[in-house]
Amino acid sequence: MKTKLIKCGLCKREIPSETCELAAYQTVVNGEKHTFCCEACARTYQKKSSEQHAKTKQSTNL
Ligand SMILES: [Zn+2]
Repeated sequence: MKTKLIKCGLCKREIPSETCELAAYQTVVNGEKHTFCCEACARTYQKKSSEQHAKTKQSTNL
């Protein structure tokens, strides 16, 4: 039995993938799936990246 560890996309805390499947704080950002240790991290990351994405969107005028 080995527990696979994944890192939180924001604070880099290691979370066992089992926990992750149970309490999935997962979000898709820019087409990529990211996993977080808690909802706060998920939201913060999503907010940050949507701000960045908005800027990129403006400059490329897509
Ligand atoms: Zn975190």
